Amino acid sequence: MAGESKPTTKVPEIRSGDIVVILHGKDAGKRGKVDRVIHGTGVAKTAGRWRGESGRALSVVIAGVNIAKRHTKPRQTMSQNSQTQIQQGGIVDKPMPIDASNVMVVCPRCDRVTRVKHERLGSGQSVRVCSHCREQLEAGA
Ligand SMILES: [Zn+2]
Repeated sequence: MAGESKPTTKVPEIRSGDIVVILHGKDAGKRGKVDRVIHGTGVAKTAGRWRGESGRALSVVIAGVNIAKRHTKPRQTMSQNSQTQIQQGGIVDKPMPIDASNVMVVCPRCDRVTRVKHERLGSGQSVRVCSHCREQLEAGA
């Protein structure tokens, strides 16, 4: 392959709605649908690792994966009008963000883990395609 090779980003391009497979961690091998993509700045502190403002941190929240069981205690909170409210305790399942470099996109068509490629349409629009079957990965396309 000749020609200029554009430097590709190390982090796969993931969008909400994509099906991904988890590569590392306790949920390795699991699949899930991306619920939310969190970009570097503004990452919730709960994301754990904080790469700083210069990093291209990208995390994804995947439904049903990397669940943190949050034990919440019943507690009283004071609302604005000085009424006490009881918050029920219990266990809350909360999907935690996963570093995007730990997941790979699964092609919904050929069902294989794929590298996301970009292809330019005649209109000049760039779309994400599966590197295996070349099917567009755009959700709802
Ligand atoms: Zn495919």
